[in-house]
Amino acid sequence: MTINNKKYNIALDLGGTKVLCALVEKDTNKVLFEIKKKTKKEKGAKKITLKVFEAIDELFKISKADKTQINFISVACAGQIEREKGIILNACNLEITELPLKEIIEEKYGLKTYILNDVEAAATGELLAGAGVNNKNILCIFIGTGIGSSIIIDRKIYLGSDGVAGELGHTIIDKNGRACACGSFGCLEAYASRSAIEARIQGLIKKGKRTVITDFTDSSNFSTKHIKMALDAHDEVTTLCVNEAVEYLSSAIANAVNFLNPDLVILGGGLIQGADEIYLKTINLTKTKTLALSSRNLEFKKAQLGDYSAVIGASLIEKYSELNNG
Ligand SMILES: [Zn+2]
Repeated sequence: MTINNKKYNIALDLGGTKVLCALVEKDTNKVLFEIKKKTKKEKGAKKITLKVFEAIDELFKISKADKTQINFISVACAGQIEREKGIILNACNLEITELPLKEIIEEKYGLKTYILNDVEAAATGELLAGAGVNNKNILCIFIGTGIGSSIIIDRKIYLGSDGVAGELGHTIIDKNGRACACGSFGCLEAYASRSAIEARIQGLIKKGKRTVITDFTDSSNFSTKHIKMALDAHDEVTTLCVNEAVEYLSSAIANAVNFLNPDLVILGGGLIQGADEIYLKTINLTKTKTLALSSRNLEFKKAQLGDYSAVIGASLIEKYSELNNG
């Protein structure tokens, strides 16, 4: 594919296990080229910055795009972001604090750069180019290693006073419960994320329960793919752990629906994208728990942009600002 003279954006999804770097066509929101790099072992500001440079350099190489064709670079990062200055304040799974990534990228490439939170980016993508294009009040929930969520009111993402609204994953569902990565106890994320399901299966294996999931991988880490294979094999332990997670998750979503009265709930993230039965179980159970009036016009949809939600959303950052300020 050759690049014509249209404008493109470079968008990155920077997370704890990988960085996805994409060349996105501005007018169509299509990902034309992409580079994936693992970040699992590379932690800290220096190594992550180098990974980002590597990914951008390789993207320029494979796409044969040049800087004059790029509108801007936009990085969606898992962590707390100071948007105006483009600083990653804290990204615990990348082991980064106070990294002025916007300034660093702008200096290196001479291109305007934005930094935003990955969940916010994914919600922007689904709102403007995915499952939420026709809805007004939306709750977006992404379930993977953790649980991220975003509240959209009147087609505008509600950020809260400090830009950190929508932490459904850290709503407390058991006050004497499991320790969460945030330092609190009993958070939803410790019960219903992919890593929570994995930890629960590991715990049962230690107690002597037998499961086929260990036949699918030598690693001590179970991915959604392995969980899905075990569900397909009607594995009792995996089915039990998934059902427990779905029970908690559906209660939390029903609480949020009753509280916010949205017209759409979008579910995405690795666990939902990778196992249709988890998606269906979750929405069916949620429907039994919501108040009739809060949910009479409620729809449920799977995130449509899949792995590209965050990069497409990051690429739409200027369009989103125009729609909301102009
Ligand atoms: Zn927590």
